[in-house]
Amino acid sequence: MNDEEFEAAGQQMLKYVIDYHKNIRERRVMPDVRPGFMRKLLPDHAPHTPEKWDQLFKDIERVIMPGVTHWHHPHFYAYFPTANSYPAILADILSDTIACIGFTWASCPSCTELEVIVMDWLVKVMDLPEAFLSTSPGHGGGVIQGTASEATLVAVLSARTKFINKIKEKNPSMEDGVALTKLIAYTSRQSHSSVERAYMIALVKYRILDTDEKQALRGDTLKKAIDEDRAKGLTPFFVNISSIDRSRYPKQSCIPVIKISMFIFLSQVCATLGTTSSCAFDNCKEIGIVCEQENIWMHIDAAYAGSSFICPEYRPLLDGVEHADSFNFNPHKWMQVTFDCSTMWVKNSKDISQSFSVEPVYLKHENEGLMPDYRHWHIPLGRRFRSLKLWFVLRLFGVKGLQDIIRQMDNYAVTRFEQFLLLHTVSIYLYLSIYLSIYLSIYLYIHIYICGSNEINEKLIKSINEDGRIHMVPSRVDDTFFLRLSICTTRTQNHDIDFAWKVVSEVADNVLKTAK
Ligand code: PLP
Repeated sequence: MNDEEFEAAGQQMLKYVIDYHKNIRERRVMPDVRPGFMRKLLPDHAPHTPEKWDQLFKDIERVIMPGVTHWHHPHFYAYFPTANSYPAILADILSDTIACIGFTWASCPSCTELEVIVMDWLVKVMDLPEAFLSTSPGHGGGVIQGTASEATLVAVLSARTKFINKIKEKNPSMEDGVALTKLIAYTSRQSHSSVERAYMIALVKYRILDTDEKQALRGDTLKKAIDEDRAKGLTPFFVNISSIDRSRYPKQSCIPVIKISMFIFLSQVCATLGTTSSCAFDNCKEIGIVCEQENIWMHIDAAYAGSSFICPEYRPLLDGVEHADSFNFNPHKWMQVTFDCSTMWVKNSKDISQSFSVEPVYLKHENEGLMPDYRHWHIPLGRRFRSLKLWFVLRLFGVKGLQDIIRQMDNYAVTRFEQFLLLHTVSIYLYLSIYLSIYLSIYLYIHIYICGSNEINEKLIKSINEDGRIHMVPSRVDDTFFLRLSICTTRTQNHDIDFAWKVVSEVADNVLKTAK
């Protein structure tokens, strides 16, 4: 492809992108294909000679689109939001154009320096502790990881090295492998699965601690576990506090009336909306204080919720973050930055950089130490110019624009759905006993449960997805299986919420009729 051909193809592709977004409602939100569908559409070997662009372009609709789940369709209510915006797409084009591998400052100074600057901007936008700034005296700083799972793993591995070294200071002859067996980490049973995976990958012992009736891990529970483990000769070293993804729900009891509850979830904590002293900040603080007293690394995983802290009204939920050694959230979930962009800050970057430092001659450069060499801050060597996405998004939306989006999406979850429920209380009460919680605000989840049995709710989700007009996924807490509706795209409008409600109530009605 030469320059002229690229220009023509590029224009055609840009038009395709715009049309895709404009006309997304005309597509079926979930593909109607069976596993292996694509084998019938493509040859079983790569072309030996170049094909024409036009042939390839046609195959986007013929081969790819039939199997695409349209995450940005306004009727997509599954999983969680994943961000998509024109500024981020433009930035990715530029990143692909520069196509650098910014593992050290010298390998592409702009790649490193822009990342340092936008990560500092975000600290200020979100009112995070100054200790996370690159200019802080304690070697704080931020880095863009690919995913929250990687951020947690990096935090665990760094803390592991730090504590193995501490154990060895007192026992110089002890081997690393033996010191490793002394370490123990903690998390609550409501944390994301990626935390357990990080502990498994790091080969550290861990305990999953009980939460209180509001699903919050409390400081005294953590303290008790630490005391027990120290008595056994172990070294507690790491606690993860994570924001909910799949299972941060209060235990639900089935009640024969519609109940609307609103909760805000952050980290391990949930708070009833509107209360002044919510568990949300009590727990983060409580756990932080225990961690500081006991000298344990506290990591906050706010993968999903984190973006909301750009709105000052949600920021109090993050009180206690000042105790955290590391903090992470995913702008690629809710802050208009396309995947992948997971921002992580640490109070002392040396804890990370010294854990992963290997120094081959070909990676060294003469300006070392003046700016971060990010190859020391994460697992891969190579890294994309991801800060361009954050920079474009922050500049072209402005903080105010991003705040407006978060508030608007909240509003859909809360106001619209709530109104629906209130308006339909009588009719629904007659034939559906739906327990519905709006885990809102920062979470935008609406939970739907038909009282009766798990089987009937399994049938409901299956029927909704077979119906195909909207797409949702289920979840389970303890023994309760329920449906989970998440507002996923900025394109969602009031009439989409109305439509979702129509579909859910119609299908539920049918499911209940056939169940009788
Ligand atoms: N932690 C939390 C709280 C999440 O909600 C999620 C994703 O949904 C993750 C971690 C995993 O995110 P990632 O895909 O960025 O690893």
